[in-house]
Amino acid sequence: MNNKVVVFYISSKGKALAEKIADFFPEADIFPFSYQKLKSCFYESRAIIFIGASGIAVRKISPLLEDKKKDPAVLVLDEAGRFVISLVSGHLGGANSLAREIAACLNSTPVITTASDISELPALDLWAKKHELIFEPEELIPKTTSRYIEEKGLKVYTETKVPLLETFELTNELEEAHLVVGYHYFENFSGLYARPKRLIVGMGFHEGVSEEKLFTALKKVFEKHRLSLLSIKKLATLERKAKSPGFKALAQRLNAEALAVTPKKINVIITQAGLKDSMAKKHTEVRAVAEPAALSGSQGDRLLIPKQKQDGVTIAVAEIPPPPGKLWVVGLGPGSLEELTPRARKALRQAEKVVGYKTYVTLVEKLLQDKEVFTSGMTQEVDRVTLALNLALEGFEVALVSGGDPGIYGMAGLVFELMKEKELMGRIPVEIIPGITSASAGAARLGAPLMHDFACISLSDRLTPWEIIEKRLRAAAQADFVIVLYNPRSKGRKEHLARAKDIILEFRPEDTPVGIAKAIGRKDESLKITTLTALNPEDVDMQTTVFIGSSSSFILENLMVTPRGYKGKRY
Ligand code: SAH
Repeated sequence: MNNKVVVFYISSKGKALAEKIADFFPEADIFPFSYQKLKSCFYESRAIIFIGASGIAVRKISPLLEDKKKDPAVLVLDEAGRFVISLVSGHLGGANSLAREIAACLNSTPVITTASDISELPALDLWAKKHELIFEPEELIPKTTSRYIEEKGLKVYTETKVPLLETFELTNELEEAHLVVGYHYFENFSGLYARPKRLIVGMGFHEGVSEEKLFTALKKVFEKHRLSLLSIKKLATLERKAKSPGFKALAQRLNAEALAVTPKKINVIITQAGLKDSMAKKHTEVRAVAEPAALSGSQGDRLLIPKQKQDGVTIAVAEIPPPPGKLWVVGLGPGSLEELTPRARKALRQAEKVVGYKTYVTLVEKLLQDKEVFTSGMTQEVDRVTLALNLALEGFEVALVSGGDPGIYGMAGLVFELMKEKELMGRIPVEIIPGITSASAGAARLGAPLMHDFACISLSDRLTPWEIIEKRLRAAAQADFVIVLYNPRSKGRKEHLARAKDIILEFRPEDTPVGIAKAIGRKDESLKITTLTALNPEDVDMQTTVFIGSSSSFILENLMVTPRGYKGKRY
C-alpha cells in the first residue's frame, strides 16, 4: 500500500502547521494547495490532509471520490490546529486513527463521526481488513454492523482459526450466530459471513481453455461443496499452463493470485504428500497437477477437497494455514510524544493489541484509543511477555511497549529468553523497535556528559546480586568511565545510592560533577547539577537517572560537559 501522506495548506499560518505535522510524519509531503496537485496525488496517497476550511476540502475532493474501498483518508485541520477532522475513509482508509494520532501529537481534539468509533468498539471492517476476511453478502453488512454497535458484540460461529475480537462471543449453534467465519455456506444460517481469503485452488486443464469454461467448472465444484468463491486467495497450476490467457483472466476475475508451479516442485509435493498419479502424466512431464498445485502455496497447506474432474478441468482445493501474528517490542523513549520515534508510532498504529506496564501505556494512551490494551504492574514482566507471545501466536499483531529503549534494561531480552524456552523461534516474527534511552535523553538535557567512554550500571538488585553491582561500580570508577546509574533508588532499597556514592568517591575527587535527571519528558521533569560529595540520595527517586562525571568532566554554568578529546587534544 502507498504510504505517502500529502498535506495541503493555503496560508502561511497553515504552512507552519503543515511543517509541524511533517516533523512527526517523515512520510508527509507538504504543498501549497493546487487542484492539479491534489488530482495527481489523490490515488497515490494513503492520506490527504487539508489545513483550512472544511468547505474548501469538501468541494475540491468531491469530483475525485470513488468508493470507500479505494479512496484515501481525507482529513481537515483548522489553521490553529485545534481540531483534526476525519472527513473521508474513516475506517478502511485509516482516517480515524490518523486523526487521533495527529491530534495526540499536536495536543488537539480529533473529530470522529463514524458509529463504532463513538461507541469505542473495535470496528468490524478494520478487523476484517486486518485478517483478510471478506463479508458476504454485502447487503447484510449495515444490519450486522448496527446490531454489533447496539449490542456491543456479536455471537460468532467459526469453522476455522481466525483471530477474533474480544467483543465477540463464540457459539456452536449456527441458529443463534450473527456472523459465521468460514468458507462454507450453511443451510440453517441466513446472516452475514466473513470469508477468510485462505483457499488455494489447484487446477489442471488443456491449454487454450477459455476463462469462461474454467470459471464454470470451478463454480460447479464450489457449489457442489457449498464453498464461497470469495475465499480464494490463489489459483495454482503447472508453470507452462499458468501462462494461458484463460487462467490469468480467471485469477483476475476472482481477485486471486496466479501461481505458477515448476514440474520439479510438483513432483516433490507428490512424493512428500504421497499423492496418487493421475491422467496428467500422459500429457505432461508431471504425474499429477491439481492436488500438488493446491498444496504448493505454503508449508502446512491442508487438502480440503481432493481432485474433482469437472467438464475436462481438474480441481483440488487446499486451505492455507493462518498467517502468524507479529510482535513488535516498542521503545517509547522517555515519555513525551516528541521523543517517540516515527517507527515506534507506526508500530503502535498497526498493532491490534498493546501490552505493557501501566505507567508506560498511560504515556501513549492517546495513540491507543482503538486498540485492545492489556496493562499490569511492574514486577509482572514474565506475565506480560507471555501474554504478548500468546496473542501473537493466535495471529494478532501485538505491540509490547517498554520505556526508553526496550533493549536497555527493557523487555527485549526477556522476549527472546521466553521464546527460546517455549520453542517459539521462527514461529512468530519479532521486531525490536529502539527508543531513546534515559542515558541519551538525560544527557541531552544536562549538556554533553557522555562525550567520552561511559558505563551504564543498574543499581537494582532484584535480578543481580548486590556484590556484583558493587564490583562493577568499583571497576567503572577505577577505569574513569562516566557512570550512568539506572534504577538508582526504590522504596525497598534506599541505601544503594549512598553506597554507590561512597564506592565512587574512593576513586574520584569530591567535586566530580553529577547530573540528576528526574522524570525526563514527563510533566514533572526536573534537572539538577551538583557534585559527588553534595549528591543527596533524597533528590533521587525511581524515575531518575544519575550521571557521574569522569575525571575530565566539568560544570559549565548549569550544564555538565565531558570533553571529547583527551588531555587538551581537540577535534
Ligand atoms: N529501558 C529503559 C530503562 C528501564 S530501567 C530505558 O532505556 O531508559 C528503569 C530506570 O530507567 C529508572 O529507574 C530510571 O533510572 C530510568 N528511567 C526510565 N524512565 C526515565 C525518565 N523518564 N526519566 C529519568 N529516568 C528514567
